[in-house]
Amino acid sequence: MEEKLIEFRNVSFRYAEEQPWVLRNCSFTINANESVAIIGHNGSGKSTIAKLMNGLLFAQEGEIIIHGKPVNEETIWDIRKDVGMVFQNPDNQFVGTTVQDDVAFGMENRGIPREEMIRRINDTLQAVGMKDHLLTEPHRLSGGQKQRVAIAGVLAVSPKVLILDEATAMLDPKGRQEIMQTVTTLQAEQDLSLITITHDLTEVVEAERVIVMNKGEKWKEATPREIFAEKEALREIGLDVPFVAILADALKQTGLPVSGRELNHEELLEELWTLHSKM
Ligand code: ADP
Repeated sequence: MEEKLIEFRNVSFRYAEEQPWVLRNCSFTINANESVAIIGHNGSGKSTIAKLMNGLLFAQEGEIIIHGKPVNEETIWDIRKDVGMVFQNPDNQFVGTTVQDDVAFGMENRGIPREEMIRRINDTLQAVGMKDHLLTEPHRLSGGQKQRVAIAGVLAVSPKVLILDEATAMLDPKGRQEIMQTVTTLQAEQDLSLITITHDLTEVVEAERVIVMNKGEKWKEATPREIFAEKEALREIGLDVPFVAILADALKQTGLPVSGRELNHEELLEELWTLHSKM
């Protein structure tokens, strides 16, 4: 049976009593070793969900269970060890004067012996492809490299889940793709769940499951392929639809019987070849 790692049970949240609810009655489960994308328009509640997952915020209604523990004032220190988070702006996440110091920082408060720290610094920087930059000063790194170091710093404390909250939003398309490839490989190889939070549908392709948020409510939960088949509805709730989906729609309108469920260019090309060979 699948092991539940994160459970939201009828969670509602608002930032203050006189303000509107920004999450309403949200329930979902994220399993151990699972890769899930949470998508939704700006302001749909995604970041609030992330902050509830590591006890930066507490829900007024409902319950959040992480790795068997309810999130509350007493459990947050344990829970933060299990829940690693990387945010949008790489420049706000650096604390060390070199790459290795930065990765060490999260471990320093946790009483990890020096030898073990050195091993973890090397292993995690290797895993994110930054092993050659141990002594580099952060300001010399590109945005994508900074985010990879931030990911290494989070992984060094061995979390159960890595949450990327719009962590690629400030990167160019190549930097984005590299980060997504790195984390997808890590997630597959390690005992780790991955949650990617984004408003960009392109990033959901690699996820096993997608949770779509709309105006603070869970709108849909499905596989990426099922989600991609609902382009019109997704556009209506303010999501960026990938180019391949727009192209497939345009081809369909010209009368070509493509499925409209393609996840990437390769799949569309494959379909077009098949159609071509039947002509
Ligand atoms: P998303 O990550 O999907 O863009 P957020 O979780 O950041 O959405 O925001 C959800 C809603 O909560 C928005 O309406 C936003 O304006 C509001 N909000 C976010 N942070 C705060 C805050 N610190 N105080 C009051 N309202 C907030």
